Amino acid sequence: MDTVNNTPVEEMGKVLPRCLVCGEVPAGGIRDGLKLKMGFICTECEKKIVHLEVGSSAYDDIIEKIKAVLMI
Ligand SMILES: [Zn+2]
Repeated sequence: MDTVNNTPVEEMGKVLPRCLVCGEVPAGGIRDGLKLKMGFICTECEKKIVHLEVGSSAYDDIIEKIKAVLMI
């Protein structure tokens, strides 16, 4: 977490992405995460997913959320 949060927000006036896993809007906007076709995952959750154990309930939970968005 070495992001310096003093840069002007370019996304001002635009719709900021909301992470579909945690529901948070990342400070860095659209560039602070992973843009999917129908959604967005913030860097924090991206890291979380990478370290989750496949088959664990937390993993399943996140996968379900992502699937729900991708299936729309
Ligand atoms: Zn997130």
